[in-house]
Amino acid sequence: MVDTSRLFQHGTLALLVPGLFDGTMKVGELLKHGDTGIGTTDALGGEMIILDGVAYLVTSDGKVRTVAENETTPFSNAHFYHAKDKFRLQNCKMFDLEKKIASEYDYQNLFVGIKLTGDFKNVKTRSVKAQAKPYPSLMDVAKDQVVFTEDNSKGTIVGYYSPALFHGMTASGYHLHYLNSALSMGGHILEFEIEDVVVELQPFETVEQHFPIASSDFKQAEFDLKQVHAGITEAEK
Ligand SMILES: [Zn+2]
Repeated sequence: MVDTSRLFQHGTLALLVPGLFDGTMKVGELLKHGDTGIGTTDALGGEMIILDGVAYLVTSDGKVRTVAENETTPFSNAHFYHAKDKFRLQNCKMFDLEKKIASEYDYQNLFVGIKLTGDFKNVKTRSVKAQAKPYPSLMDVAKDQVVFTEDNSKGTIVGYYSPALFHGMTASGYHLHYLNSALSMGGHILEFEIEDVVVELQPFETVEQHFPIASSDFKQAEFDLKQVHAGITEAEK
């Protein structure tokens, strides 16, 4: 029996801000902690989305490929999918979805898994370019992001809502990734417009934070908390 009440996180989003992009956990290992999730790969190789136990990567050329088990990740979230709440939503925007969840569910201080499946009028995503050492900051990478849009797109959004209290460990608010059903477009969600989707919510009881203890870069890094918070807000919104 898998534990569907637990959200697993490897690394912390904060470590990406000053440029600690080296992969520190094998994706095959990450997949033992969930069949659904989001993240990135070694050197910020792109935007990763895990669906039904398969990890996909949307690279900066807009292509989608599967991620091999021996590839590594510096920062990822995974959980075993089991929706608690399910509702249908039609003809609205991302903002309307956020408003509905905020008014109908008392989840504001919980970590919540989100999944949207169906038809979108429009999806706008981004991916980042794979980086080389010496790594730049996350803000510099985000300035150079590549944006993709698709109209009349069928696919799946996967991601998380995180409470403001934990900004730093992750980005507070919504962090969502997309993959269309043709496996030809996806990435980190910037905006979307819903045509007709099923929304599923999965609040978690437990968050398991896993640290890259073999990484001396991480262990020796001196984090400037102000810079970390500002960097996350700038790069992930
Ligand atoms: Zn992302």
